Amino acid sequence: MEKYDVVVLGAGPAGYVAAIKAAQLGAKTAIIEKDFFGGTCLNIGCIPTKTLIHDADIVRSIRNASQRGIKVNKPDVDIKKILQNKNDVVASLSQGVNGLLVSNGVTIYDGIGTIQPDQRIEIKKNDEEDNERIIYEKVIIATGSANKVPSIEGIEERGIYTSTEILDAEEIPEHLLIIGGGAIGCEFATIYKAFGSKVTIVEAMPRLLPELEKQLSIIMTKSIKERGVEVKTNCSVKSIKKTGRYFEVIIDEDEKIPVDRVLYAIGRKPNLTGLEALDLEMENNFIKIDENFETSAKNVYAVGDVVGKKLLAHVAFAMGRLVAESIYGEKSDIDLDLVPNCIYTLPEIATVGLTEKKAKETYKEITVGKFPIFASGKAKTMNLEDGVIKIIAEKATEKIVGAHIIGPNATEIIGEITAYIKMNGTISDISNTIHAHPTISEGIMEAALDAKGDSIHLLKR
Ligand SMILES: Cc1cc2nc3c(=O)[nH]c(=O)nc-3n(C[C@H](O)[C@H](O)[C@H](O)COP(=O)(O)OP(=O)(O)OC[C@H]3O[C@@H](n4cnc5c(N)ncnc54)[C@H](O)[C@@H]3O)c2cc1C
Repeated sequence: MEKYDVVVLGAGPAGYVAAIKAAQLGAKTAIIEKDFFGGTCLNIGCIPTKTLIHDADIVRSIRNASQRGIKVNKPDVDIKKILQNKNDVVASLSQGVNGLLVSNGVTIYDGIGTIQPDQRIEIKKNDEEDNERIIYEKVIIATGSANKVPSIEGIEERGIYTSTEILDAEEIPEHLLIIGGGAIGCEFATIYKAFGSKVTIVEAMPRLLPELEKQLSIIMTKSIKERGVEVKTNCSVKSIKKTGRYFEVIIDEDEKIPVDRVLYAIGRKPNLTGLEALDLEMENNFIKIDENFETSAKNVYAVGDVVGKKLLAHVAFAMGRLVAESIYGEKSDIDLDLVPNCIYTLPEIATVGLTEKKAKETYKEITVGKFPIFASGKAKTMNLEDGVIKIIAEKATEKIVGAHIIGPNATEIIGEITAYIKMNGTISDISNTIHAHPTISEGIMEAALDAKGDSIHLLKR
């Protein structure tokens, strides 16, 4: 039986990074993957959704082109070709991950890994009767997460999609009802509205994207409604009935909405299959870990979505690096609390650090600077005016503690503020840094100036 220093279970962002880093630090490393390299992120999450969002952007630009004096025919969306392109993007990146693992000397096992007592793992391949077994010194669980199924009568009907199935749907729905107004629900609303579907979002909380600062959520809701998406907040789906090729979705107050497709995106649950023998201690239904990512079982570590901290690919990447370093090297100075959070809707949303409310609770006095996107020259050139850049700092030290952006390129420019926060930067550091003009990022400088009461490009208050 082959013996390894480290065996990683799952080749998503957390797992493949952990395996590469462990191998780079000298460990004899193996990785086991039951489906595809790159996990949820690359195959059924970040990458395919962002490919479709780019397509949606193109469609929208063509539709709006005539407003700028460019006459083009109505866009004709060939969904099969769109899906083929998406699959090509995914396949090429997934092969890339395979190549990275191989080039770093990681041994790859295809199949479902089941951890057994005595530091053994059994690997079951679909097409083979005999299971393979390997021995580990240390195991890193990176099995990720799966869609949570809401307890709604009729939810198991065929044609009701999760975020995974809708990615391969070869028909554009006439009317798509989305259960859940979080990041994934809003991103799919953006995609299918652009592709020509009627879209309704049903959200149980009082507003879309309820985890965000209220102002961002309000701007987003206004913008999505202006583009024709129907938003029903403070509402729950009670049941779904299939009638022919349509569904009758019954929401509170017994309102019935006839639609031809339903998507639910209400959260994620950890993938725990194959881990039963370990009898791991759990925390809020996810695997409990200590500061070195070790679980309640000795020599068993866990990282990524399966530990339920922040279910984001870049957090999984960081944890993957850190777990290998904490076992075999020196841990990098990565702050797992300083995480940018991006939503790829129109307008884009990106946040980092504390909300204004949390900052007020944490610091004696804070200062808040804002720059509305309508005042940005670059945004005007793009005819995009919805949004705001907001920076929050501790008043006494000027230390930046949070930023909240809704507007064009938000998901790109948040990196700048994240870097300032990581380096204990102040609003003066930002406001005294020359930003190129015209760019959206110069709005960060303007927001910092506003936080100091020194604004130039805003009307004097
Ligand atoms: C629709 C959608 C959009 C998203 N968009 C974004 C985004 O834009 N940005 C972002 O940061 N995050 C996004 N996410 C979240 C992101 O995909 C996850 O946070 C990330 O993939 C977690 O990485 P992971 O390695 O922990 O788990 P996963 O990516 O889930 O990988 C786990 C891997 O383990 C394998 N596995 C599980 N059990 C076993 C077993 N017993 N044996 C062998 N293999 C096993 C699985 O097949 C899988 O490949 C999105 C998620 C979804 C669903």
